[in-house]
Amino acid sequence: DSPRLLGPAEIRALAAELDVRPTKTLGQNFVHDANTVRRIVTASGIGADDVVLEVGPGLGSLTLALLAEAGRVVAVEIDRKLAARLPRTIAEFAPGQAANFDVVTADALGVLPGDLPQTPTALVANLPYNVAVPVLLHLMAQFPTIRTALVMVQAEVADRLAATPGGRIYGVPSVKARFFGDVARAGSIGKHVFWPEPKIESGLVRIDRRDAFGTDPALRSETFAVIDAAFAQRRKTLRSALSSWAGSAPHAEELLRAAEIDPGLRGERCTVDDFVRLARAGHEAGI
Ligand code: SAM
Repeated sequence: DSPRLLGPAEIRALAAELDVRPTKTLGQNFVHDANTVRRIVTASGIGADDVVLEVGPGLGSLTLALLAEAGRVVAVEIDRKLAARLPRTIAEFAPGQAANFDVVTADALGVLPGDLPQTPTALVANLPYNVAVPVLLHLMAQFPTIRTALVMVQAEVADRLAATPGGRIYGVPSVKARFFGDVARAGSIGKHVFWPEPKIESGLVRIDRRDAFGTDPALRSETFAVIDAAFAQRRKTLRSALSSWAGSAPHAEELLRAAEIDPGLRGERCTVDDFVRLARAGHEAGI
């Protein structure tokens, strides 16, 4: 059975019933287009074996499309009014799937595995725009069981996340996302599929996890500290940008050489593998 999805009329009716006044702070732009939610689900590659974590289910547009393909969906929504209405929306539009759905009222930025009734294997979300990158990085770090993430974010943020070394837009989000796996753009989404319409275009990003650096939280935080330091002054060479991290410029130079990185480069030239080698060299030197 194909599920009933939410179109403009359903979104309007739900919003009126709940007296929803979408807030920018919570990035509340609701999708009212069936093709868009189907595209997101297809791009995620999820199937019947997956337990999908959805952040910010809102009125349930993407949730219904996910339930059509996934084994289970666990949604985390910060807005109590929206969270409270969801089980009834699922029961009305996808009665056969209602038993496969859970919603937790919480801030996704603080959610941990023990807060969820199921262990997620995938993350699929139309993320609230102002916290999109922190939410994505937090969940990839705290939920190592998530093998694939497919998120919709502002187009510009999607470009940054998927950027490769050397370019102007390659920065902290690009390197940190790559710590977790392979990152790729997975499409663009216009403004007209949302209510209310945002000012900017959206983009899809996919991360396929690759535990290349293990799942050690210490290595992750040490690597992220070097990345933050290297890009805090992105016009400086690594030798000088990393001098306070290393204690002095000569020590930064020594550690960069130990990690086989040219101290005269800028951070924007380095891959995540470079930063991991550097963090390891720093760790051995007691940083
Ligand atoms: N998934 C729905 C859709 O596609 O129509 C809504 C997406 S809307 C862009 C973002 C949703 O995230 C809103 O429902 C908002 O209330 C919720 N939200 C905002 N900040 C959040 C947070 N920190 N944790 C969990 N949910 C959040």
